[in-house]
Amino acid sequence: MRTLAVVGGGAVGLAVAWRAAEAGWTVTVFDPAPGSGASFVAGGMLAPLSEGWPGEERVLAFGAAALAEWPAFAEQLRAISGESVFVADETLTVALDGADAADLRTVAQWLAGFGHDLRVLDRAGVRALEPALARTVRAGLLATTEPAIDNRRVLRALDAACVASGVEIRAEAVVALDDLPHDRVVLAAGARSAELWPGLPVRPVKGEILRLRHRPGVSAPPSRVIRARVHGRQVYMVPRADGIVVGATQYEAGFDTTVTVGGVRDLIADAETVLPGIGEYELAEASAGSRPATPDNLPLLGPLDDRVVAATGHGRNGMLTLALTAVTVARLLDGVVPDYAEAASPQRFSTSALSSSPGGVR
Ligand SMILES: Cc1cc2nc3c(=O)[nH]c(=O)nc-3n(C[C@H](O)[C@H](O)[C@H](O)COP(=O)(O)OP(=O)(O)OC[C@H]3O[C@@H](n4cnc5c(N)ncnc54)[C@H](O)[C@@H]3O)c2cc1C
Repeated sequence: MRTLAVVGGGAVGLAVAWRAAEAGWTVTVFDPAPGSGASFVAGGMLAPLSEGWPGEERVLAFGAAALAEWPAFAEQLRAISGESVFVADETLTVALDGADAADLRTVAQWLAGFGHDLRVLDRAGVRALEPALARTVRAGLLATTEPAIDNRRVLRALDAACVASGVEIRAEAVVALDDLPHDRVVLAAGARSAELWPGLPVRPVKGEILRLRHRPGVSAPPSRVIRARVHGRQVYMVPRADGIVVGATQYEAGFDTTVTVGGVRDLIADAETVLPGIGEYELAEASAGSRPATPDNLPLLGPLDDRVVAATGHGRNGMLTLALTAVTVARLLDGVVPDYAEAASPQRFSTSALSSSPGGVR
C-alpha cells in the first residue's frame, strides 16, 4: 500500500487527501488545528472572470479551468457528506463612477476575446436585478457563470469525505518533512509552507473579513455576489444562508491576524456605500487570515523533489482553485504532469532555490 502524508489540513490539504485516498493511497493528514486557517475565514467567491484584468491571461485561463471543475466536485461532496456548498449562482460587479464603468467595459471586451460573454448593465439593469443596491450605482457587469460557495460548509464536507475515504487526520504539527516516514508527502501548509521548504515563494498576505447576519424586517441581502471598488479599495459581499460575508482587506503584515478597527471601519463603510441596508444587520463576526500568496498569483502545484509535491500558494483564489488542485495533485502523485499544470509549476520562479533539498529544516 502506498503511504502519503499531507502536511496541512486546510481546504487544500483535505481535498488533496480525499482524492488521494480515493485513488488508493493510505493517507494521513497532519495539522495542529485542521480547518482553522485561511480556508475558514474565506469569502467563497469563485470569480476568475470578474477578477480578471488585461495582461493576466495565465491567471484567467487557470481560474476558468478551475471553475469548470467545481460542479462535479460539489456534487461529489454533496453525495458523500450531504452538504450543499453553493450559496449564489452569479456575480455582479458594480461601478460607482464613470472610471469604474469604463473599466467594466474594458474587462467585458477583454473577456469576450476568450469566449467569456458577460453582460454590461446600465443603472436600471442593475437595479432590476438587485433592488437593494445604492442608487449611486451607475453600471454593472454580470457574470452568470460565477457562483459562490460557503467555505465552512466546504470544510465540513471535506472532513466528512476524508473520514468516509479512510483518511487519518492527526492533530500534530510537522516540524521537518524528513521526519515523515511516508512514501510521498504533499506540502499543503498554506501561508506557512515556506517554513517547511525554505525558498518556496509563498508569503502571507493578511485579509480581514466580516460576517453580517440578516435581521427580521431589514432589507434582504442580495442573491448574487456583489463586487465594487470604493475609494480605490475592492469590497465584495457574498451571500450566506443567514446574511452576507463582507470582504476583504489586503495587507502585507507577516503572520499577524489581528482584526483592526481600521479594517472593520473600511469594510463596513465601503459595503454600506454599495448596499445601504447593511447598517441594520448584526455584526456577527470579524476575523482575519493569511492568504498563501505567490509572486504571480498562480499556485504552486508540482514536485519539489522525488518525494514531496507542493500544493500551496493559492493566494486569494484557494477556494476557486480547490477542485482543480485536488485532481491535479492526484495525477502528479502518479507521475503525470497535466499540460495546464505547467503554469503552476513550482520551478517557474527559480530552479536553484527549489531544486536542492533543504535537508533537516524541511
Ligand atoms: C479574508 C480572505 C478571504 C478570502 N476569500 C476568498 C474567496 O472569496 N475565494 C477564494 O477562492 N479564495 C479566497 N481566499 C483565499 C483562500 O482562503 C486560500 O487561498 C485557501 O484557503 C488556502 O487554503 P490552504 O488549505 O492552502 O491554507 P489554509 O486554510 O491556511 O490551511 C493551511 C493549514 O496548514 C496548517 N499548518 C501550517 N503549518 C503546519 C505545520 N507545520 N504542520 C502541519 N500543519 C500546518 C495550518 O494549521 C492550516 O490549517 C480568501 C482568503 C482570505 C484570508
